[in-house]
Amino acid sequence: MALDLTAHIRDIADFPKPGIVFRDITPLLAHPEGLAEVVAQLAEPFRDLGVTKVVGIEARGFILATPVAVELGAGFVPVRKAGKLPSAIHRQEYELEYGTDLLEIHRDAVTADDVVLVLDDVLATGGTAAATVELVGQTGARVAALAFLIELGALGGRAALGDAPVTSLITY
Ligand code: AMP
Repeated sequence: MALDLTAHIRDIADFPKPGIVFRDITPLLAHPEGLAEVVAQLAEPFRDLGVTKVVGIEARGFILATPVAVELGAGFVPVRKAGKLPSAIHRQEYELEYGTDLLEIHRDAVTADDVVLVLDDVLATGGTAAATVELVGQTGARVAALAFLIELGALGGRAALGDAPVTSLITY
């Protein structure tokens, strides 16, 4: 029988602040079969898409995007918080609940010839992923698809992500 991934996701009430139910994936990452299953399931829909780069969003996106890239025979590209990437960058501002933040990508990390899959652990409001789509666009490349381990359906993040297909393994 297939492993129940949700059984290994821990809900933490009021973290990092009151009213938020944090979906803690660390038990799932620590579970050998769970981790393998997540990576296999995230890669599965894209096996015939010809993905050349998997873009992971700091920090939990990195954990999943790298093995998925290996699985798809693609490279891994980090999108990072401001000031972390050492070479020439593109920068995108995005809205937080209070204020704004910045995400960055190396200018030469992807090109117009790349087939890009964007990957993160959780799709909530979609602000982070939408900024990543913009960043990839700034390089001249296009996002072919987006994948998430968890989607918080009530927040409607999908609608912020434009035309590229969005898949998620678990919806709350
Ligand atoms: P958003 O930009 O609103 O879609 O938020 C997405 C980012 O915030 C992801 O990178 C997640 O890691 C994190 N995040 C948002 N909400 C949650 C939650 N309830 N549990 C765990 N992580 C979350």
